[in-house]
Amino acid sequence: MKRQAIVAANWKMNGNLALIENMVSGLKGFTPSANVDVVVCPSFPYLAAFSAQMQQAPLNEHIHLGSQNVSEHNKGAYTGEVSTEMLKDVTTKYVIVGHSERRSIYKETSTQVAHKVNTVLAAGLKPILCIGESEAERIAEQTQTVLASQLQPVLDEVGIEKFAEIIIAYEPVWAIGTGKTASPEMAQETHQFIREFLAQQSADVANKVPLLYGGSVNATNCNELFAQTDIDGGLIGGASLKVDEFKVICSAAKGT
Ligand code: PEP
Repeated sequence: MKRQAIVAANWKMNGNLALIENMVSGLKGFTPSANVDVVVCPSFPYLAAFSAQMQQAPLNEHIHLGSQNVSEHNKGAYTGEVSTEMLKDVTTKYVIVGHSERRSIYKETSTQVAHKVNTVLAAGLKPILCIGESEAERIAEQTQTVLASQLQPVLDEVGIEKFAEIIIAYEPVWAIGTGKTASPEMAQETHQFIREFLAQQSADVANKVPLLYGGSVNATNCNELFAQTDIDGGLIGGASLKVDEFKVICSAAKGT
């Protein structure tokens, strides 16, 4: 079965207008491999500028804009929040939901993350749902239990059929921004668990869901990671701030 691959840049609270200009000019003329989408997720204030510049360049049709977060509410008295309609106004296609920094620093619960996924789907946008275990949980051999507990509320809220429109990013928390990467075998084993977990509900849907690996992916380790059967690309933090390195990582992804 054909499966979409995705490489998404999570700039976190980094970058500025100059980096957007660099990224757009670096990606001009860049063609992702067949069945690969490239997504750049700058901070909210830069989405509109990125959108305008990518249309002006223009960038390849498989290069998209993503946001790093969204409100679970559609509109109203939620000071400081950003809605899916606002994201759509600036041509955002993908939304990162439940990144481990949102879960740990801003105390987003898996239930709230599930509401956000639902809101994103209802708006016709594509959620990149982040899940992952901490180092202590990995050592205590709780990885699978933790991942299941992060996925189940989403399954309960949106149902298995909607997972065909969801992208899952498996990001072991201990590998994010630390330079420690899961070995390709360890990452594959965990991705396989995630696919099998979904397959308990629907093998067909499980086969369609792009599973991205995130956690200190760089130009050196991306080939081996992306070569794994159940790894369909990556969510890239630090290395996505370097335009040339990000392009190398994007080129390593192959849709199956
Ligand atoms: C991330 O922020 O999702 C991430 C994976 O960061 P890094 O690549 O820097 O580990």
